Amino acid sequence: MRILHVCSEFYPLLKTGGLADVLGALPLALKKKGVDSRILIPGFPSVLNAIKEKSALHEVKQIDTFAGNITIFYAVFQKLPFYIIDAPHLYAREGSPYHDEYQNDYRDNAIRFALLSFIGAELANNLDPYWSASIVHAHDWHSGLTPAYLAQNGYPAKSVFTIHNLAFSGCFPYISDDELSGYQHISLLDKIGLDNRMFSIDGLEFHGKVSFLKAGLYYSSHVTTVSPTYAQEITLPDFGCGFDGLLASKKQSGKLTGILNGVDYSLWSPKKDPNLKHSYDARQLNNKSLNKLDLQENYHLTKDSTIPLFSVVSRLSHQKGLDLLIDVIPFLIEKNAQLFILGSGDKVLEEKFLSLAKEYPNHIAVKIGYDEELAHNLTAASDIMLIPSRFEPCGLTQLYAMKYGTLPLVRNTGGLADTVVDITQTNITEKLATGIVFNQANTTELIVALEKTFSLWQNKTAWKQVQKNAMKRDFSWSLIADAYIAIYQSL
Ligand code: ADP
Repeated sequence: MRILHVCSEFYPLLKTGGLADVLGALPLALKKKGVDSRILIPGFPSVLNAIKEKSALHEVKQIDTFAGNITIFYAVFQKLPFYIIDAPHLYAREGSPYHDEYQNDYRDNAIRFALLSFIGAELANNLDPYWSASIVHAHDWHSGLTPAYLAQNGYPAKSVFTIHNLAFSGCFPYISDDELSGYQHISLLDKIGLDNRMFSIDGLEFHGKVSFLKAGLYYSSHVTTVSPTYAQEITLPDFGCGFDGLLASKKQSGKLTGILNGVDYSLWSPKKDPNLKHSYDARQLNNKSLNKLDLQENYHLTKDSTIPLFSVVSRLSHQKGLDLLIDVIPFLIEKNAQLFILGSGDKVLEEKFLSLAKEYPNHIAVKIGYDEELAHNLTAASDIMLIPSRFEPCGLTQLYAMKYGTLPLVRNTGGLADTVVDITQTNITEKLATGIVFNQANTTELIVALEKTFSLWQNKTAWKQVQKNAMKRDFSWSLIADAYIAIYQSL
């Protein structure tokens, strides 16, 4: 088996969310099991610079494509073979790979990611004379057209498409406004070398637009998503984002599988995390609170280890349900709890959290932005990680929190439902409980969950036991890689 992962992010080269963490771990876990696993990624500045620094770039080929003249390079980085698309006119843009500094999507995203998908398919057709993929594994909408190119060109490689988040459908106009204002109506599919007949409900058309995500769902040999519960949820109208019918039929024919994401414990483990001043494990939990005292001091929160510290490490978006937190702040303050928010996204939420931090400086600290080191420190220092998501394909922060003895407080959805065991009396007695779970995305239920949390906090022995249960859970990639291998083999 020769597997090519086609993706737009890879930790530590470029990360905007969990997608990067998965790509940073899964291909290597597969390789450790003897699967020839490679990566194709656009030559974004952070990717090219980091790879150039650590390794030699070898030119594979220069090609004329619908997106202009480009070069494919090969390099080995962190023991993994990479193909990198060097196309500065498309990718040499600092910051987010998807949008400019004002959060506006790049106008040429359709071309940028069609090119990624196109090269993904060509690497299954001898673009590299020394290696050809037998299975192309595309991740999220950015590489969703890969299965469409494979199908159109009749290449024999099979394809797997993984949904990391169905809410991003990668939709683009079939005929753009620019084209409409001119004389010639050139369709997007004409521009990117795909057959216009694919623009159909039985194809990649979605509500009158070209959806890269739908192309991945429709044309791939097998669809996976990142938790069993999310795999079930997305076949229903409430979670399916309009793709539920297609996904339900995939499920029925055995072509949709939910595989939980894992954790790279070489990066996320309180015993050996280089970001922490005080390392610890389940046997030395006292050291955990030293991290908390440091954090409280550094961010001017009242320095007191007996105060429960809640944290958020997240994109600030509707999906993550963090607007629910605003209404429960008075309750948290009344209970003398502390809250630390690290995240960015929705400007209204950012402003709201910042003003609350000003109002309650001893109780609330906020850092707007992306900060990997602080994410590790906060995961270690806090007592509870809040993840009240409206939907959550898998979620990684609750997995990291558990390893750090920080109890996740989560909504009962997607991967959160699959990974966190609620603190019911029975679960506590049977040493199964690992966090706090609530059902409906509303303030009333969130307050009930917080009340449960505070009463557990009062019982130090029970709290410590739940921490230990959580720290014992094993979400290693090596176990999870087997599930992907089984799918590859079935193809
Ligand atoms: P999603 O991919 O939907 O954003 P996940 O929980 O799957 O959510 O993954 C989020 C990843 O991004 C985790 O590794 C988390 O620690 C990290 N992360 C999110 N926001 C920040 C931030 N502001 N600073 C640092 N890391 C962050």
